[in-house]
Amino acid sequence: MNKLIGNEHIKKTLTEKSNVRSFIIEGPEGSGRHTLLDILVMSKICTGDHRPCGKCAACKRYESKNSIDIVYPDVELPVKEFREIINTAIEYPREEKCKFYIIDNADDMKVHNQNALLKNLEEPFDFTYFIIICNTKESLLKTIVSRCTVLTLKPLEEHVIKDSLVKKYGEKGEELLARAVLGSRGFLGRAEEIYSGKKNIADERYNAFMNALAHENLAEMVLALSFDNKKRNEFNDLIDNLLNGFKTILVCAGYKKEISGLSNEERLIVSFGEKRIKNIYDAFMKTKIGIKFNVNMSLWSVYIVKECLKKI
Ligand SMILES: [Zn+2]
Repeated sequence: MNKLIGNEHIKKTLTEKSNVRSFIIEGPEGSGRHTLLDILVMSKICTGDHRPCGKCAACKRYESKNSIDIVYPDVELPVKEFREIINTAIEYPREEKCKFYIIDNADDMKVHNQNALLKNLEEPFDFTYFIIICNTKESLLKTIVSRCTVLTLKPLEEHVIKDSLVKKYGEKGEELLARAVLGSRGFLGRAEEIYSGKKNIADERYNAFMNALAHENLAEMVLALSFDNKKRNEFNDLIDNLLNGFKTILVCAGYKKEISGLSNEERLIVSFGEKRIKNIYDAFMKTKIGIKFNVNMSLWSVYIVKECLKKI
């Protein structure tokens, strides 16, 4: 359980509700959803002394995804196939002490499949567990949510993220540490991507800007757009990222349809409506061209923020 940083409320829930069979793990990418999943599954199937031991045959089977009793139904399967898989929940486990149905990316689960799942959640067997993983439980049927214990991963405090990064990756300087914390929005997985160098500055600024825009947080929008004068390339990369992102958002808003893979922030921005989104897109386009003639980045930042906040 110590592998999961922070989130004491989840640890408390799991201690109190040790006999629950159906869980929803809710949180954005990088919030520790799969760390929590590992803990949940391994603590139940482990045959070692200190569960989860990570060393016994059951733990090893889980880690290598080689257990026949741990099933990962694809949420986008046609309902007939999905139901066939889910209905095996009534059969006894063959290898482990219990069975798990792990439903990942549940935000994309079709309603038919949700209904098929619901039937099994109604009368769970003692040996069967269901774990649903999603960005937000809002994307699931209320009837599903009400039958599960919801474990919501919460953002961590700055000092917790800093300590954890330095402990895992060592000292890499204050500037990088501050950037990782800023780009993480409180979620360790994101902070790790930045701190370990997996993610570049334009990507992390994109996320920071979209989050600020989705919540119309003026100060954070300005912060996400502010670059050192020598870093014009990074500013240009960010504008390119924003143009790409808004192209997709514009399509979603125009056709009034959901495209899977959007982040929570992007979904919120879709709800701004087509006109406003088009105006923001145009502002990025003007910036992309205009910056070649006027290199003053802070001027363009002010322009972008102003256009972004216009309620059209
Ligand atoms: Zn074990």
